[in-house]
Amino acid sequence: MPLPSFKYSKRPLCGAKCKRTGLPCKNMPVRSSKANRCRLHGGIVKPRKILRGADHPQYRNKGESSIEREERSKRSAALLYLRDIGDHVKLFNGTKTRGRKPKGYVRLDMSNPEHLFIAIQKTLED
Ligand SMILES: [Zn+2]
Repeated sequence: MPLPSFKYSKRPLCGAKCKRTGLPCKNMPVRSSKANRCRLHGGIVKPRKILRGADHPQYRNKGESSIEREERSKRSAALLYLRDIGDHVKLFNGTKTRGRKPKGYVRLDMSNPEHLFIAIQKTLED
């Protein structure tokens, strides 16, 4: 039994034939079906590629999405570079920052002018 929308469509029909009567099927084929078959005769609907769980950009763990976490990590790395520059010019005399270092932070030797330039560049990003 064809669907009501079939009558007005000009798309090709399902290529299957009825076992009993030998008549062709009157349903429309599934769009993704290569063999031109309807949903009743083996047309497979491909599942859409939806990112799930931690892969999804809006997935939240501890109140942050992965994009937000990445940005925060980048900002804290920039702050840490600033702190390193300040330590190098003896701006601070207290203890160093606590905790795990953020992603993307590599300790640089501030007496090396190239490393100092890299650190300044990292703080000026964005
Ligand atoms: Zn069919």
